[in-house]
Amino acid sequence: MNTKPEPTRIAILGSTGSIGTQALDVVRANRLLFSVEVLTGNGNADLLIQQATEFQPNAVVIADESKYAYVKDALAATDIKVYAGAKAIAEVVQMESIDTVLTAIVGYAGLASTMAAIRAGKQIALANKETLVVAGELVTTLAKEYGVNIYPVDSEHSAIFQCMAGEFHNPIEKIYLTASGGPFRGKDKAFLQNIRKEQALKHPNWDMGAKITIDSSTLMNKGLEVIEAKWLFHLDPRQIDVIIHPQSIIHSIVQFTDGSMKAQMGLPDMKLPIQYALAYPYRLKNDFPRFNFMDYPQLTFEKPDTSTFRCLPLAFEALHRGGNMSCILNAANEVVVGAFLKDTIGFNAIPDIIEKAMSKVSFIPTPGYADYVETDQETRALTSALLKDRD
Ligand code: NAD
Ligand code: MG
Repeated sequence: MNTKPEPTRIAILGSTGSIGTQALDVVRANRLLFSVEVLTGNGNADLLIQQATEFQPNAVVIADESKYAYVKDALAATDIKVYAGAKAIAEVVQMESIDTVLTAIVGYAGLASTMAAIRAGKQIALANKETLVVAGELVTTLAKEYGVNIYPVDSEHSAIFQCMAGEFHNPIEKIYLTASGGPFRGKDKAFLQNIRKEQALKHPNWDMGAKITIDSSTLMNKGLEVIEAKWLFHLDPRQIDVIIHPQSIIHSIVQFTDGSMKAQMGLPDMKLPIQYALAYPYRLKNDFPRFNFMDYPQLTFEKPDTSTFRCLPLAFEALHRGGNMSCILNAANEVVVGAFLKDTIGFNAIPDIIEKAMSKVSFIPTPGYADYVETDQETRALTSALLKDRD
């Protein structure tokens, strides 16, 4: 890495979240390699102000416009530019001084700014998997057109990318995405009927934002990752398999056409894939705890229980059906996960409602950007109506 003369100038979209704060830990530990140009947050204005004070970016954006004056006042004595609103995020990512944009906003809300960053020729470190779920074809085509690389931050996709280093000309036969199975692995539908959000929010191996933690408990997260992998690595859905690996030590596996399999391993820590994405092709020395085989004498593997955790097969179905179906799956999921977090629906209702939305929202075989925006809105409205009907 010491051959690199200038620090990489990064924008962190969603800097106040789980990925965003860990990305700033990586920057803090590698001040000579990275500088922060832009930070953005939504709800937690105080943390955004604190981060801006520490990292002195060129600009910050608070997505929640009602907090603009508060952030602006707090940073009045500095040179930091302060903006507010979703449009401002899509504008600041285009700043000349940015090299790489880390997309760590959660959900569909990350799509427009990611597309704007690609159009401005910025390299993308992609955490916001929903972007590829909603509009994978559009986003990857755009990246190709603008000569932009999309470096995966998601640990499974980073694992595959790490296994591919030196193999980019060798075709993939198959990939195995590993999944911890979440907090309810081995439970049946009757048990899941009465679980509370507090139980779903306790992930065994990873400490993440609320939405992805619920997605992990339903296995929707793995479903979204299957779709993400299809677009990142140009795969046919039949080349993607999911295997439950409760210890989360093997982060994913690539099988090549000679049958050889490469896996990437390590203790679960998102800082590793974050720094790999930001520093690629270099590996940065760090003091993260190391894996010790004797702490894990048994690494185990199971088939996912797709009749209990129906979100995973629903995601495969969306992928098979193509068009705007993954966009529908994603929007319905965002709405039902929101409802589950408000204690409005039970755990087993999550796949039921998503499935209904997938059968009701207008199918568009070859959608463009405007179609995705419309599909997202239509699905949210329909899913909210389905939730109301249940009251
Ligand atoms: P989080 O909820 O902890 O953080 C989300 C960030 O996005 C926050 O900064 C929040 O202020 C911002 N945000 C939320 N809604 C917004 C909106 N409407 N407009 C603008 N900003 C908004 O989430 P997270 O766990 O950090 O996940 C972020 C993304 O990374 C997700 O797409 C998730 O799937 C992906 N991811 C996360 C992990 C993890 O370990 N947390 C692992 C793999 C992938
Ligand atoms: Mg993941």
